[in-house]
Amino acid sequence: YMSKVFKRTKILATIGPVSGNGSKQMIEDMIMAGVNGCRMNFSHGDNESREQQMQWIREAAEKKGRSVAIIQDLQGPKIRLGELKDNYYEVKAGGTIFIDYAVKEHQGDNVLPCQYNLAPKVKVGEPILLFDGKVTTRVKDIPSETAIELEVLNDGYLRSFKGLNLPETDFGGDIIPPKDLADIAWGATRDFDYIAFSFVQTAEDIRKAREIRKENNHPGKLIAKIETKKAVESDENLQEIVNEVDGVMIARGDMATEAGAEIVPVVQRTLVRMCREQGKLCIVATQTMGSMVENPLPSRAEVSDVANAVIQGADVVMLSDETAMGKYPLETVREMKKVILYTQNHVEVASLGQAPNSNDQNYDAIAEAAARLAEHLEADVIVCQTASGATARAVAAQRPNLPIISVTKDERVANQLALMYANSAFVRDYSVNQGIDLARELKESGYLQLREGRDKLKVVWVSGDLNEGGTNTIKLRYV
Ligand code: PGA
Ligand code: MN
Repeated sequence: YMSKVFKRTKILATIGPVSGNGSKQMIEDMIMAGVNGCRMNFSHGDNESREQQMQWIREAAEKKGRSVAIIQDLQGPKIRLGELKDNYYEVKAGGTIFIDYAVKEHQGDNVLPCQYNLAPKVKVGEPILLFDGKVTTRVKDIPSETAIELEVLNDGYLRSFKGLNLPETDFGGDIIPPKDLADIAWGATRDFDYIAFSFVQTAEDIRKAREIRKENNHPGKLIAKIETKKAVESDENLQEIVNEVDGVMIARGDMATEAGAEIVPVVQRTLVRMCREQGKLCIVATQTMGSMVENPLPSRAEVSDVANAVIQGADVVMLSDETAMGKYPLETVREMKKVILYTQNHVEVASLGQAPNSNDQNYDAIAEAAARLAEHLEADVIVCQTASGATARAVAAQRPNLPIISVTKDERVANQLALMYANSAFVRDYSVNQGIDLARELKESGYLQLREGRDKLKVVWVSGDLNEGGTNTIKLRYV
C-alpha cells in the first residue's frame, strides 16, 4: 500500500456566506478535506456570526484531532462606496461621476456615496480605481469639502460597497482606522491565533500595529498584508517589513490593482524567499483557484499557479471567494490538495542557495542538522518537542521533504504551527518523552503508517533539555 502522505504547503480558507452562515457542516467538511487554517475577513460579516463560526472551527478541529489556525484579517484603510440604488450604476468612458461623503442615500444619479471623505486627501490628476480596478478614473476636480469629481476612463458598472484603490494618494501613514481599533479590541477577547494588517506600507506601520496589538493584549501573531504600491516599491522596503513581522500575506488582489498585475509574480518570489530565509510564515493569497467560484474544476493556469507556490516553498496557499461565496467550496479544497500533493511528491522545493537563519544560532543549527539527518536516513517523520514553537519553525524553515509532527502543551502555539510548512501540531501535557510518546500514539492510531518493507517507524526526534534551556537534542528512534 501507499503510506499516508501529508501536505507540506498548507491550505487557508476564507470563511464567508457559503462556508460560514449557518453551515456548521461545511466548516467541518472543509477541515476534514484538508483546510489547516480559517481566515475571518473583517471587511464583511458581523461579530455574532464570527463568534459562532469560530466555535464550529474549534469543534471540527477537535473532532479531527488536529490543530487549525484562525486568522483575524482586519479591513485596514480600505475605502468603499456606500450603498447604490438597485445595487448597480453604469459608467461610460468620458463620463463624470462624483463621490460625495455627505450623500447618505444614492438617488440613482452620478453622485455616489462613500464611507470615507476623500476630498481632503486626494489631488487633481490622481488615479482612482474602483471595483478591483474594473473601473478606472482620474480626479478632475475637488468641488467641495466632501466631494470629488472623477473622469471615467472606461465603460463598466459599479456595485454597492465596492472598494476604491488610490495608488498615488498619500494617507499620511494612517493604516489603522477606527473600525480596525474596535475589531482589535474585540479580537483580543477571542480565540485568534494570527492577526493580519491590511495595506501595510512600511515597517513603521508594523511597529505601530504591534504596539496596538500589545496594548490590547491580542493573542495573535502578526501578519502584514503586502498589497500597496508603496510597500512593493523596493526590495529594501519589503525586507524591512519582513524583518518586523511573524508572517506576510502576499495579497495579490489589491497588489495587482495598485501596482500592476505584471509585478505580482516577481514580488511573490521575492517575499517567499525573504520569509523562508527567516523562518517566517508566507501566505500566497487571492485567485489561487478563482475560477472555481463558478466552475467545478480549476483552470490550467490556476493549477500551475498553486504548483508554483508549492515549488517556491510557500507555507500556505489561501482561498478567498472560492470558499467564502463560491459554488464549490469543498471541491476547491479537494482540488487544491491534489495539486499540492502531486507537486510536492514530484518536484523538489526550490533551493534558497543558503541555509535559512532566523535569530537563534542553536535552534537553527540543530534544525538544519535534524532536517538533513532525516532526509539522509530516509526517516518517516521529524518530531519536534516545542514550547514556544521556535524549534518547529526552525525545522520547517529547512523545508525538509518529510512531515514534521510538533507537540507542545500550549494550544495557541499548536494552532499557529498548523499553518507552518510541513507541520502537524498536537497539544499534549509536557513530559520528557512527549515527542516519542506522541509518535507511538500516532502510529497506533494509524495516523503515521509504516512504509513498505519497514517494521518500525524511523523517527528523528528534536527536543530540549529544560535545564539547559532550549533545543539541544537530536535522537534517531525506531517506534
Ligand atoms: P483582501 O486581501 O481579500 O482582504 O482584499 C487579499 C488581497 O488583496 O489579495
Ligand atoms: Mn486586499
